[in-house]
Parts: sequence; structure tokens; C-alpha cells
Amino acid sequence: MREVRLRFAPSPTGALHIGGLRTALYNYLLAKKMGGRFILRIEDTDQTRFVPGAEEYIINCLKWSGLIPDEGVSFGGDFGPYRQSERSAIYQSEVRKLIDQGHAYYAFDTAEELEHMRQRFATEQNKMPKYDFHTRMHMRNSLTLPPEEVRQLLEKGTDFVIRLRVPQDEQVGIQDVIRGQVTFRTEELDDKVLIKSDGLPTYHLANVIDDRLMRISHVVRGEEWLSSTAHHVLLYRYFGWESEMPVFAHLPLILKPNGQGKLSKRDGAQFGFPVFPLDWNQGEDFLPGFREWGFMPEAVLNFLALLGWNPGTEQEIFSVEEMIGLFSLEQIGKSGARFDFDKAKWFNAQYIQKADAGQMSTIIQSYFQSKGIELSDERAEQIYTLYKDRVQLINDFYRQGRYLVEDHIEYQQEFLVKKWQPSWKSAYEFLQMRFSQCRLWNKEELEPEIKEFMHGHQLKMGEVLPCLRVMFSGVPMGPDIYAMMGALGQSVCLERMNRFLHQLNKSL
Ligand code: GLU
Repeated sequence: MREVRLRFAPSPTGALHIGGLRTALYNYLLAKKMGGRFILRIEDTDQTRFVPGAEEYIINCLKWSGLIPDEGVSFGGDFGPYRQSERSAIYQSEVRKLIDQGHAYYAFDTAEELEHMRQRFATEQNKMPKYDFHTRMHMRNSLTLPPEEVRQLLEKGTDFVIRLRVPQDEQVGIQDVIRGQVTFRTEELDDKVLIKSDGLPTYHLANVIDDRLMRISHVVRGEEWLSSTAHHVLLYRYFGWESEMPVFAHLPLILKPNGQGKLSKRDGAQFGFPVFPLDWNQGEDFLPGFREWGFMPEAVLNFLALLGWNPGTEQEIFSVEEMIGLFSLEQIGKSGARFDFDKAKWFNAQYIQKADAGQMSTIIQSYFQSKGIELSDERAEQIYTLYKDRVQLINDFYRQGRYLVEDHIEYQQEFLVKKWQPSWKSAYEFLQMRFSQCRLWNKEELEPEIKEFMHGHQLKMGEVLPCLRVMFSGVPMGPDIYAMMGALGQSVCLERMNRFLHQLNKSL
């Protein structure tokens, strides 16, 4: 049986879009499910679109999310090099076979000549003319020029491209696992450039040759590549590999939250959420990432998996191991999946709640550290326990729990204006005095004090607890008041009550 080998083949043209990570995930899941290998190939033959740092970014995204390639750029393997810019000699020798068999040809047309052809045929064809069987015989290429002239042009080093000679009236097709039979008529296809004037291959040529030489068994990629498959099938045919083509699966699009079109790189800024796995920070260009926004990689993978894959049950939370066990291409839908950021946060909250406390404490510690605060193991675990059911993002631990370690407190203005009543001040001073007399700082001692206080001053729980929370943390909401007071300790609580009552006294 054919060995199962799947590749993720991004182009380093900028930050990897979150949809790219979903493609990587599906390739990874299927490879692992079938006991195969997951390969990272970098498709960097378009020098005009090359962006420094993009390859490293792709690798970091895979490492962060735990989708570790078995082979590929920076991971080694027997089928390298895995960076296409290092495989030029391979493409050159392969394309020669196509030329020799008459399936590809040299084209010497200048930019002006191409433009001239477009204008000439535009009126005749009543649509944008292509370089194809209609027009190719009117152009300057090795099909129209005498062989001697072609030889001389090549010897002189004249600029040329190599084009695929697409047949006039044939059908090509694939059996796509997700879309079924997909057929293209060759008369609609242009004579795609295979080798550009810089000597490097185009995506089509390099992609097909590499999939073949790297023994790729399944091509799982975004829907936007479906139309390219027509040319790919022709290439497989002319290379004599058609009967052993990989299995194809073209994934549905990820749609904008409103369902109106494909989620694009610019949508992050428009909708106010990240559409990249990690922060991208190159020169002027800053794009926020899921990691820095406060997401756990497991939650992001779970969320992404379900943007297209329907396991057929009500279950929503899947570990990567579970996904590997259940995944199949047949359960991927054809229609686009809407990107729902609230749902992504919901997944993250689920993962935070069920995470291992020790592991989460380390994550919380490093997050606080990035803000210049060193947390002890005990403090980090305390913050995790207090807030795990109240946060959606890792950053929320900092936002909500920083008062435990930072002395500066900002009181919520809305509370001060709408809820706090200056006439309560002396009552709370009395409560503070009672608190100072507590010998044990725990719920058993504090609860009766607070109850008595409420009773004595005809105050309700919903009035007192928010006040205490504001005194301790600045905001009227938060975890269990006794847990909060216990975590702060008696002297800090007393000091903060004192500060609140005094500051307020001054400002009112
Ligand atoms: N280089 C293409 C990309 O950037 C790969 C498409 C494919 O997987 O064939 O997505």
C-alpha cells in the first residue's frame, strides 16, 4: 500500500493567515490518523512576493500549536531540500522532458508584445484574451519561430518563459474527496507559465513535481487552489504520473463573521479580533495574533478543526488525540464556515477551566513576567484557582488578578458615581475595625462579621459585597469574597479599606 504522506506547503509571503493553520491541522490530523507523515514544504519560488521573516513565522506557528512536522524545512528528512528555492536544478531537468515531448515550449514575447496581443484579440474574442491555443500561434515562441532562430535566441540569452502547451479540446478532472468529480475543459485554460524569466518555476510546476518527488499521497488545501488543479492534472499526465496522482481534497473557505465572503487578512482590523496565530511585527506592519491575545493553542486547534469538519455528534471539545482518532476528509463540508470569534473565546474558556493547575500557573507566571511582575508558584496557582471560571483569555488572569500583586488600584468610576453612598463611610470604618480584630482570616470568622454588619445597617448582600470588592480590587465584580480576602491577607485588606475610605473622603 502507498505510504501516507501529507504536506503543508505555504508560501512565505507574509504572516500565515489562521486559515493556513487550519490547512496545516487537517493535513496533520489525517497524516497521524493514517499512520503517515506530515511534511512542511516552503513554496518560495515567487521572489517578488517573498517577505523576510515569513518562513520563521510559519515554523513558529507550527511549533506553538504543536503541529510538529516529521519532515521539512528546519525539521530534516530524506526528501529535501524542502525549500523550493533550493530545488531549481530539479525543476529545470524535469521541465526539459516536457519540452522534448512537445508539451511545453519557449515563449520570447516581451511585455509590449503580450499587451499588443491582448488588445488585438480583445475585440475579436469579446473577452480578456489568454495565451492559449487561439493566440499562441500568433506569438513569438518555439512553436512559431524556426528552430534555428529559437536556438540563437536561447544562445544570446534572450529573456524567455516556458509555457505549458494546453490541448485544445480535452477534459481533465479529479475526484475530489470533498467535492466529488470536478471536471475542467481545456479550452478554457491558458498556457500557464511553468518557468519564469528569472529561471525559477511557477507554483504549478514546482508544486506538481515536488508532490511527486516527495511522494505525497494526499493533497489537502484551500478551495482557492481548486482551479489550479486543471493544469496540475495536465502536468501529471504529461510527466506520465496521472495514474498515481495524489488524493485531492479542497477545503471550504473560512468566511467573515457576517458570512459575507472570505475571511481576509484585513478583517482582523475591521472586526477587532486576530486572524493570525501569532503577533506579526515587521517594520511598520503589526498584526495581532491569537497567542498574544491570550489563547491556548489547544483551544485554537479545537476551534479551527470545527470550522469545516463536522464529526457528526454533539461533542465540541476534542483533544488533538481525539481528533486524530475521529478525523476524516469525508466529514468536511463543501460550504464555507463562518468565523465566530465569540465561539473561539468560548473554546478557550473551556480549555482554561480544565487545564492542569500547575501548567496553567506556569503560563500565568510567564504572562505576568512579560508585564514585569514575578509571581511565586503559590500566587500563580491562587490566581488560577480564583479566576479560572471567570476568564476567557489568558490575559484576563492579569487583567482581573493583578490587584493581588499590584498595590495601585483604580476604582471603577461608574461604581463610585452610581452605587457608592458617602453616608456609608462610617459604617465601613466600623466594619474595618471589626475586621482588624479577627484572629483568623477565613470564611468562618469573616462571614458572621459581614452578616452582622449587613443586618445592623439594613444593607443587602448585593450592596455590601460589591463595595468590599471595589475596596480590595477596584471593581465590583469578582470571585468569592472570602477567597479573595483570603488571597490578599488581613493586613492588605485592612490597608485597602482604609485607603478607599480616605481617598473617597478627600475626593467627595
Ligand atoms: N503555496 C501554496 C499556498 O501558499 C500551496 C497550495 C497547495 O497546497 O498546493 O498555499
